[in-house]
Parts: sequence; C-alpha cells; structure tokens
Amino acid sequence: MQSAAYPFATPLPLLFVKRLQAILPTASLEDSLQSFSCSRPTSFRVNTLKTTEPAVVTALRAEGFSLRRIEWRSGTYCVPPDQRRALTESRLFGEGLIYVQDLSSMLAPMVLAPKPGERVLDLAAAPGGKTLQMAAMMENRGELSAVESVRGRFFRLKANLKRGGATMVRTYLKDGRSVGAKVPDRFDRVLLDAPCASEARFDANDPESWSHWNLKKVQESARKQRRLLDSAIRSLRPGGTLVYCTCSFSPEENEQAVDSQLRRYGDAVAVTPIELPLSNVQPGLLQWGRHSYNEQLRHAVRVLPNAEMRGFFLCRLIRHH
Ligand code: SAM
Repeated sequence: MQSAAYPFATPLPLLFVKRLQAILPTASLEDSLQSFSCSRPTSFRVNTLKTTEPAVVTALRAEGFSLRRIEWRSGTYCVPPDQRRALTESRLFGEGLIYVQDLSSMLAPMVLAPKPGERVLDLAAAPGGKTLQMAAMMENRGELSAVESVRGRFFRLKANLKRGGATMVRTYLKDGRSVGAKVPDRFDRVLLDAPCASEARFDANDPESWSHWNLKKVQESARKQRRLLDSAIRSLRPGGTLVYCTCSFSPEENEQAVDSQLRRYGDAVAVTPIELPLSNVQPGLLQWGRHSYNEQLRHAVRVLPNAEMRGFFLCRLIRHH
C-alpha cells in the first residue's frame, strides 16, 4: 500500500507513515519524513586504538577531503555524501584508523559509558561498530565480550575487530537469548543493540529497503527483543547498567519491550534519565494504542531523523538487585 494520496509526498508505505504520524511530534513529522530521501553526510570516528585525531585530520585533509568536526563528540567528523566512496577506499579506512558509523549509532556506547578495566557485554555485536567504539573507550583494558548469532556476520565482526586493533574483545558465535542463563550476574555494563525491523534505515529512493516490512515482522522482532532483553538483564551484575537500543520507531520494539521487563523484574530494575547533546530528541511514549507503559519510560529517548542523523531509540536501565 503506497501513500500517494497522503498529504506528504513520500513513497514510503502508508501504514508506516501513519504510525510515524502517531509516534513523532507533529511539528517535526514533515522534516522527519523528508529525511528518508536525503543523502546524509558520511560520519566517521577516529580509531584511537590505532592513531590520533590530529594524525587523521592531517592525512585526510592532505588527500583533499572536506572534513567537518562533530562538536558534540571528540574524534568524530563527517564528509559530504559525494566523498563517501573515496573515504571508504582510503588507506586510513582500509587500515582501520577510522570507522564509518552513523552518528545516531555512536550514541549508544556514549550513553553506556564503559570504563577501562570493567566487564562489558555486547549482546548483538556484528558488524562491530559499537564494540570497536567501546574497546576504544576502554583503552583495550578489561573484559569486553561480543556475541553474534549469525555466522557470516560473526566473521565480519571478527575481521572488523582485528582491523581496528580491538585486542581485548572475546567473540562468541552464540544466540544471545541463552547468555543470561549461562553467565548470570556477571557484567558491569551490557549493550543490547537489538536486531529490529530497521525502520530508520528505510530509504525513500530504494523500495527494496522496506520490501520486507509489515506489522507481522515488527511483532516477530518484538518477540525476539523481549527474550534478548531478558537475557541481557540476567547477565548484568546487581548495580550494573544496561543500554537497550534499536534503529526502529515502532513502540512494540522499543517502549513495549522495556515495559514488559519492568513488569517482570519489578523494582529490581529501573530506567535512568539520558541526557543527549542534541535537540532532535523526544521522550519515550507512555501510551500506544490500548497499551499504557510504565511511566519510567519517559526517560527513554527517541532520536528524530533529520538531514544529519537517522532515527534511533535508546533506553538505559540499572539493575538494583
Ligand atoms: N551493534 C552492531 C554495530 O554497531 O555494528 C549492530 C547490531 S545489529 C542492530 C543486530 C545484530 O544482532 C545483527 O548482527 C544480528 O545478526 C544479530 N542477532 C540477531 N539475532 C541474534 C541473537 N539471537 N543473538 C545474538 N545476535 C543476534
């Protein structure tokens, strides 16, 4: 079903657009919808495990790249869309001195804030952008375990970690749903960047990007996410911190996934407020259709898509006991 008759000109599926209209603030809906057809600048991180920010800036400027610094995160830059290909073919990229990563995706490790020496779990890790970012934040010191269940993606994860010099990471080809039962109460911090319907990755110029999307898929994702999130909570030590995130807008995959765990765990877990250095954000929803969610979900954050960033959902939990 297409949205030809809809007030906003977009080829995105009508049902998806209607749901976005109910999820996002009215004032930003049109900009958000337009952002699905824009070519965003290509953002990347300097990999401090292998080089320094001045060395990367000097080398890329010498090669003619137009770099723009992202002011809210050190070591983060972007180049115009027409320089993306040259960037990914550059020596610095090939040698793992930089890592190309969406700006919204960089937020999850920032919010989790792993420290050198801690025990950290990345429960759905491939291709490894956030694992690498966390290894850099931890200065390759401590314990960082990365789990991925899809074989092909697991080997891509390993190759990316090797190229990026993340020597501290132990990788596991495993179903993340079983980890909490196998290693309960262990980790200081857990990241669950959950497999999802990837709605924020829809590209209005590429119908293939949403060709598999429907409500059944959203609900299937939500079922898996609930089990992964339960496993993530179990693997956390009392006092530990968890970040749950997805690149989908659907409340079933976001607020509802967290709400179901708050019901299950009661006061053993709590949502903690997130401060982001961005204006394109909205608090988590407390109501969706006939569902009411725990009011702690107002501390969750939905990043609104714009010309710089894709949409994203983040929620941080602490396990009390
Ligand atoms: N964190 C990654 C990054 O920043 O590069 C992206 C992770 S992606 C959103 C979700 C990943 O979870 C996919 O690689 C997918 O194959 C993996 N996955 C799916 N089901 C899983 C499961 N049951 N256990 C562990 N990983 C799973």
